Amino acid sequence: MPHCENCKNEWSWGTTLRKSFTLGEGMECPECGKTQYLTKKSRKRMGIANFFPPVILLGSAWLFDLNIVSVLAVALFLFAVFMLTYPQMAELSNENEPMW
Ligand SMILES: [Zn+2]
Repeated sequence: MPHCENCKNEWSWGTTLRKSFTLGEGMECPECGKTQYLTKKSRKRMGIANFFPPVILLGSAWLFDLNIVSVLAVALFLFAVFMLTYPQMAELSNENEPMW
């Protein structure tokens, strides 16, 4: 789980997930209130993580000739895996690093 760079408090899984889905780039630390940003590295990692589930889904639907129920089951499974791993990929920084 990510640590706040300012107060070193470890964010819980729920906090990280909730903060990640709020709009805007900054995420306020629940402990010290300082705005934290995702590091460039973790944003890149998440970009890759966002990219793979649809590819796996479409690939397996095509390969195994899955019906819609199976595709939905795989999608649900991938979504669950994504939700579990997402906060673990997050790294926090006091600075908002530009993406490029
Ligand atoms: Zn903090």
